[in-house]
Amino acid sequence: MPKEKPELSDAMRKKLSGKSTERKPINGTKFTIAISSAKGGVGKSTFATNLALALKQIGCRVGLLDADIYGPSIPKMFGINEKPKSDGQKLEPIIKYNIQCMSIGFLTDEKTPMIWRGPMVTSAIKTFTQQVNWKDLDFIIVDMPPGTGDTQLTFSQSIEMNGAIIVSTPQEVALLDVKRGIKMFDKLGVKILGLIDNMSSFTGDDGKKYTIFGEGGVKRTAKEFNKEFLAEIPIDPDVGKFADQGKPIVESNPNNEISKIYINLAKKIKSIYL
Ligand code: ADP
Repeated sequence: MPKEKPELSDAMRKKLSGKSTERKPINGTKFTIAISSAKGGVGKSTFATNLALALKQIGCRVGLLDADIYGPSIPKMFGINEKPKSDGQKLEPIIKYNIQCMSIGFLTDEKTPMIWRGPMVTSAIKTFTQQVNWKDLDFIIVDMPPGTGDTQLTFSQSIEMNGAIIVSTPQEVALLDVKRGIKMFDKLGVKILGLIDNMSSFTGDDGKKYTIFGEGGVKRTAKEFNKEFLAEIPIDPDVGKFADQGKPIVESNPNNEISKIYINLAKKIKSIYL
């Protein structure tokens, strides 16, 4: 019999079993919600930006923290090219679409790849959570890097996270990693609000629905782990088009069917916390 692959790496296991430091809320916000995914390219940043905009549209005060240190997307998706101001002590978030935003991408050169080591990740997260002048927010939506690495651990161990949403596409290979992500948050004691099936299907000009990446896998995984299945978001080329233009779909076209899914989700999240 082949040996079963461990769900978490040994290094991760060691870290998890260590003493966790005291968890503090991020200054200036009531609730912190992490948007996580097992793999890159499943639409996590698209989800984080649109959810932030949907929460704003229903009257919440929202911050968006791009913790995807290795591949920040918020500057492009929100069309932000300026650098944050600092008073020497704290960084001012950049306000766009009435959302307070912070991203490592505001501070680094887009063309220069950053090589991050563990301690640098920890210090970047410390800066973003302790040295940004977040003001009077109901929610900070955190766009996490994909996977179960240093950022997730540092965040979960030092910041009071009030919920996590896991975004996936329906392929089996993505689902394996989703299971790993669920186990990580469960172990770290972060409440998983639920799972999202992004790019679940595509409706062609012929009106037929095509399930390109498979069907029902995310829902099944949610059931298997007793987590809520929050929503199915279909493929719509407009989603990518508007993100590329720096104005995500919920902001540029609030009446689109996908925007309505986000608004409904935002209402649900608001009713859980506020
Ligand atoms: P991740 O943050 O997981 O790496 P992104 O949010 O950058 O993924 O999305 C990857 C690509 O998929 C982007 O080009 C994005 O525009 C596209 N995308 C995400 N969700 C959808 C959707 N529902 N329909 C169409 N394209 C989508």
